[in-house]
Amino acid sequence: MSDQSVLVVEDTDEIRELVTTVLRRAGFDVREASSGAACLAEVRRDAPDLIVLDLGLPDADGTEVCRQIRAETQCYVLMLTARAEEVDLLIGLAVGADGYMAKPFSPRELVARVQAMLRFPRQVPAVPSATPAEESVRRLAELEVDEESREVRVDGSVVDLTRTEFDLLAALASRPGRVLQRETLLREVWQTDWEGNLRLVEAHMSNLRRKLQAAGLSSPEIRTVRGVGYRLVA
Ligand code: CA
Repeated sequence: MSDQSVLVVEDTDEIRELVTTVLRRAGFDVREASSGAACLAEVRRDAPDLIVLDLGLPDADGTEVCRQIRAETQCYVLMLTARAEEVDLLIGLAVGADGYMAKPFSPRELVARVQAMLRFPRQVPAVPSATPAEESVRRLAELEVDEESREVRVDGSVVDLTRTEFDLLAALASRPGRVLQRETLLREVWQTDWEGNLRLVEAHMSNLRRKLQAAGLSSPEIRTVRGVGYRLVA
């Protein structure tokens, strides 16, 4: 069995059981919750690597549960929505989910999405070594992107980013100065071009920028190339 854990939060028994079954079959360690309160209790007890979160829960709004999760853990959140039209609205609200799937969804697609998101295992604290792996650190002016520890530092201070924000920044930092198209980022960071939803890239990019600015980063800067994509300019 995989050591990657997924928490499935859904109040409709048939859907929760279906999602749990297909994810277990794919080798994940799956736990279940049927309410927002049970989800948060599970997260506090032992945070999973990824949460499949239903938007319509009996006791709480899924967007609020997502914000709470975000405040407490870095795990991935894949949100399930009742209708495709809700996705745009949710992205606009910037609740911090890493991905969205509208019901009805194909179980195979759900498994593929979870696998794509979890291609980076959760960071396990390594045995401290005297010599940090220098090759894994990219330095660009005030910014350091450490691919090994998945840490970003501005002038030496760690910036608290979600996994998706880290992946976006690492993609830009790997090719400084070059324009990366939104489609390229969608493929590289989400490993799919599902729904062609470029607004998801924009929403996460704006959160990333806000955090880097708040951390005092002035150079390099993420520039928008209108209608095309983004580039990192020192
Ligand atoms: Ca529901």
